[in-house]
Amino acid sequence: MLIPARMSEAEEQRWVNVMLDKLAAQESRRTLGDTELAERARRLSDQYFDGRARPASVRWVTNQNTRWGSCTPSEGSIRLSHRLQGMPEYVVDYVLCHELAHLLVPGHGPRFWRLLEAYPRTERARGYLEGVVAAERLPHVPGTRDV
Ligand SMILES: [Zn+2]
Repeated sequence: MLIPARMSEAEEQRWVNVMLDKLAAQESRRTLGDTELAERARRLSDQYFDGRARPASVRWVTNQNTRWGSCTPSEGSIRLSHRLQGMPEYVVDYVLCHELAHLLVPGHGPRFWRLLEAYPRTERARGYLEGVVAAERLPHVPGTRDV
């Protein structure tokens, strides 16, 4: 760490604390890389689908603004919207499980949702995402954005 000269010891300590807080904040906001995302998908598949869903690739995409995730079963590829980054882990896991389930069952019929019942936080995660969408539709109220 580079510390500007001519700082008193107290100033210096305060400055170090500020920098450490900033680093900690960055760390907690850090999102999974594509490799970690693929690893996460593998673990979720093992845990909830007996390892039957085996995606060939799992990655973040930034060109997906109307859907949280998508998959191409013929290629075994899963894509997650970057808009999920920074959301709670259980929400990201839900979207991963959802796309993993599509590798086994296309469409959103009863068989699909029965499969997804294995993931215990499906309802909660869907509620969270519905809330995000609803909040985006709210008119902007001046002065409340940053609170
Ligand atoms: Zn779906």
